[in-house]
Amino acid sequence: MPRFAKVIVDSYLDKALDYEIPSHLSTTIGIGSRVRVPLRNRSVLGIVTGFADHSDVPNIRPIQAVLGERPLVPPILLKLAEWMSNYYLCSLDAAIRTVLPYAVRNEKIRQKTTKFLKLRRSFTNHELDVLAKRSPRQAQILRILSNQPNCQIEIRKLEEEIGKAGQHLRRLSAAGFVEIFEQAVNRDPYANQNFLQDTPRTLNPAQQKAFLSALEAIANPASSRPLLLHGVTGSGKTEVYLQLVQHVLNIGKSAIILIPEISLAPQTVERFKSRFSPIQNQIAVLHSNLSEGQRHDEWFKVLRGEARIVIGARSALFAPLNNLGILIVDEEHDPSYKQEETPRYNARDLAIVRSRLEPCAILLGSATPSVESYHNAQSEKYALIELPERVDEKKLPIIRILDMKVHNRKKGSLRGIFAPYLLEAIQKRLQKNEQVILFLNRRGHSTFLQCPSCGYVEMCSNCSISLTYHRTCEKLICHICGQTKRIPTQCPKCSNRGILFSGLGTQKLEDLVQKEFPTARIIRMDSDTMTARDAHRQAFSKFRSQQADILIGTQMIAKGLDFPNVTLVGIVNADLSLYHPDFRAGERTFQLLTQVAGRAGRGDTEGEVIIQTYSPENPAIQFARRHDFLGFWEQEKEFRECFGHPPFRRMILLTLSGEKENHVEFLAKSLWRNLSSKLPPDCNISEPVPAPLSKAKGAYRFQLILRLPKDKPIYLHNLKSLLSSFSIPSNFSLTVDVDPYNLL
Ligand code: ADP
Ligand code: ZN
Repeated sequence: MPRFAKVIVDSYLDKALDYEIPSHLSTTIGIGSRVRVPLRNRSVLGIVTGFADHSDVPNIRPIQAVLGERPLVPPILLKLAEWMSNYYLCSLDAAIRTVLPYAVRNEKIRQKTTKFLKLRRSFTNHELDVLAKRSPRQAQILRILSNQPNCQIEIRKLEEEIGKAGQHLRRLSAAGFVEIFEQAVNRDPYANQNFLQDTPRTLNPAQQKAFLSALEAIANPASSRPLLLHGVTGSGKTEVYLQLVQHVLNIGKSAIILIPEISLAPQTVERFKSRFSPIQNQIAVLHSNLSEGQRHDEWFKVLRGEARIVIGARSALFAPLNNLGILIVDEEHDPSYKQEETPRYNARDLAIVRSRLEPCAILLGSATPSVESYHNAQSEKYALIELPERVDEKKLPIIRILDMKVHNRKKGSLRGIFAPYLLEAIQKRLQKNEQVILFLNRRGHSTFLQCPSCGYVEMCSNCSISLTYHRTCEKLICHICGQTKRIPTQCPKCSNRGILFSGLGTQKLEDLVQKEFPTARIIRMDSDTMTARDAHRQAFSKFRSQQADILIGTQMIAKGLDFPNVTLVGIVNADLSLYHPDFRAGERTFQLLTQVAGRAGRGDTEGEVIIQTYSPENPAIQFARRHDFLGFWEQEKEFRECFGHPPFRRMILLTLSGEKENHVEFLAKSLWRNLSSKLPPDCNISEPVPAPLSKAKGAYRFQLILRLPKDKPIYLHNLKSLLSSFSIPSNFSLTVDVDPYNLL
């Protein structure tokens, strides 16, 4: 046994510390063990990341205790944490904290136990009758026990039936008739739900082909490429996942299924719970809506090997499963796989890394694959599988595009917010008792300038993203390259003088709609109204059971839409997402429109989608209208390549924030000078500019965007050491976002 252990201490240095292993702990300690160690005059917790036979540290101190019966972090997950810290430029400690959830790290959260009562021998009716004369209550308890499975019952349940019985239980126990014991119970988030078993469907030829490719990858994971399953909405992707998981279980392995946001898509969990209902307790569900206790129990169920299927949002990727057969990432394009706090990892990308470390098969699925993943498929890093048709042969809805430049001039248009055509369409659906969804696809708080008469938007000539309007300095700024422009007093294209655009919120939209349709029942869903834990589910179920006529919301309602009675979906202003100051704006718009189109008209009446825009000719809108993914991808790829956006270069976003605007700017400039002089010339580093969200929580924010060549991972390493040697005063903060998804 080695004499020393390397320990990463919680929230301390980005460096393992050496400790001596006392001989009485040498048999219980392992890599990934949770340990208690002395640090200065405190006692702290940490994780063992390695062993050594000698150490140069003078006066080395011993480990005080090893917690738990087994190591908490399997070696593969430690390697994954190390990878995360190197790639996402975060500390190893932060990466380990991500891999090991709070509910497990925190010693105060424990397994819950409860008291049971068990019969020690059987009793004849005669014996019970005799006892009943002396103590009817005790006889009653024994009778109840005899009728329980295994002749045992949870005391809490017994007392719910017969009232407090402490004294009788003690007597029965003293007489040797019953035994009282404690047993661990799991706080199961799905304890009170029943799932009817459903049976596998016979796969159609396209599904069969997908299934076989994945079987091959499961059998030979080390020599197989990641699989990208591109299947239109309703093409039977989930059915393929279910059968693959069944196969993996059959050969004695386990599976992880990642889904973007569970609260928005509870159906997927339900389908797995139903399909595997006889072994329901082998499914663990991990997501943010669990209590800490539930999360603790689900996690330990996995560690003990009791659960072999894990379903969850991004953190489920770190489930400590053994013998992983397949990792499935559903809706792989979804931005919520990206964690928007340090470490800012992307679970889809880390899933690929984990699958290489295991090794196991990996399947990414989507109706609208991300530009990045599809690029990997086209360049044969991934293997592409396609499900081009819907299973039920339902028709996709008709998509109509309304050019607001034309409609604004018509009589009856509502201040450029509703074209008369959309208002009439809503009216018609309401008269027929059908339901309507209105999307206001607004993101963040950024503002762009748009001419209401010709639709012109000022774009950056270097980056081809919209310029952001900054009220404080009265300028237009590009957030990728830093280009600035004066605000035009009239439209450069049509000379209109009223060019300023002001945003429209969901609240205001609701008021307008209510005024227009006074008797309509409206539900509004956005981040203001959906703060309660169960709010989504309630709003959705209210709408599904037709207790409302119109649902108004932001993109949070694009997912999980399955309302048979919805026959009209209106996109109020497609330009809001089209001119988001982000190189992915076109991709997001295309995905959103495709999602919506794939979901409207799920019932028997044909659906209609109406898109209002000033840019009807925009490719994202046109390709979505034609349901042409490949066409969209080809032009988008060209655009990304031409302007040096991901996936052609690696983007890194640095954001500095602090209380005094000019101090933050000064610091940002000195960071910029520092990096510019030290990084190789094939890295682009933009000059610092105020972030689109230039002030948040009282702090001013400045950004720098770096674009590095993709084939030189060493640059990441260099950048990490440059950043750690650049000292940031304590009243400022620097966030580092590798492969950012949110450029605000
Ligand atoms: P996706 O995940 O691509 O949206 P699903 O797997 O949810 O598609 O399939 C859509 C619907 O079609 C579901 O109700 C599913 O049960 C059904 N389905 C899937 N595959 C088949 C099949 N081979 N035969 C019959 N029905 C199927
Ligand atoms: Zn630019």
